[in-house]
Amino acid sequence: MEKEKIEQRYSRQILFRGIGAEGQRRLAAGRLAVVGCGATGSAVASLLARSGVGTLRIIDRDYVEPSNLQRQSLFDERDAAESLPKAIAAGRKISAFNSEISVEARVADLVPGNIEDLLEDMDVILDGTDNFETRYLMNDYAVKSHRPWIYAAAVGSYGVTLNILPGKTACLACIFPDTPRGMVETCETSGILNTVVNVVAAVAATEAIKMLLGGEALRQLRQTLWSLDVWTNEQAEIAATKPRAGCRACAERDFIHLAGAGRPHVTLCGRNSVQIHEMARPIDFAEMQRRLETHGIVRHNEFVLKFWREPYEMTLFPDGRAIIKGTTDAGVARSLYARFVGS
Ligand SMILES: [Zn+2]
Repeated sequence: MEKEKIEQRYSRQILFRGIGAEGQRRLAAGRLAVVGCGATGSAVASLLARSGVGTLRIIDRDYVEPSNLQRQSLFDERDAAESLPKAIAAGRKISAFNSEISVEARVADLVPGNIEDLLEDMDVILDGTDNFETRYLMNDYAVKSHRPWIYAAAVGSYGVTLNILPGKTACLACIFPDTPRGMVETCETSGILNTVVNVVAAVAATEAIKMLLGGEALRQLRQTLWSLDVWTNEQAEIAATKPRAGCRACAERDFIHLAGAGRPHVTLCGRNSVQIHEMARPIDFAEMQRRLETHGIVRHNEFVLKFWREPYEMTLFPDGRAIIKGTTDAGVARSLYARFVGS
């Protein structure tokens, strides 16, 4: 983009002392991955895209549903009606308000087998996920490859975020060696206020901007685990300035999540659904549509195929991954998949 146009679009940000014209150029050269594009992911991606971060990679495994619209600000009713993958819908929305940056949509579940490919050329990784399994995986990868990442989470009226600069500050496993008890509740069980999402996203996105700017801005990075409850107005900060001695990731460099230890092939995902993790079973949607039509209602677009067979709803992705709604029984999900897709 030519200089004049940059100066105009980002003029209010360039006027801000912490950024300036040079900082704006650094942001334009910045590469940032948002892992998970639900509520927090939507909000951070939107803010960073408007700020002019040059390359945004949006990684998400899910598709848009009507119940997302209350808080997932990059999506609209049409996206939900079409069951568009969130990464695709987010990419389209962002391109409509900032066509001058590059948005890369990746419809994928971040797993040990693809994490290198999805994150190796990124400067900063931002957490938009809703589960500790993926967060520990990101943490292992970030610590191993010395890449900064930002943990961010929100549930109910509570939000929390932490900057992780591997080798310098504490990592996620330093602070939470195991999945923290209070955070096992999910949006599916405790609900969530859209307001807390935006607070946490705004704080995390600002920290990401400092990381991308580098230099002086790094001195302003927060070095605490910061949390707040927008309902009770309680706030807390826990020091996270140094790696913890004996940390599995930082000290022992034992990257169990990266090694995929004990990773299930089938996982619960949401209150009443199961995900079949499959990445290497390319599906021909037109062909599958023909096959399934006699067994239930089928509909597909370029990105997903949906199959309804009472009381189940199966969403199939082109790489063979599936989300089956209507059950929490892995066995039932697996047999449905085997019966209609293949075993
Ligand atoms: Zn650590």
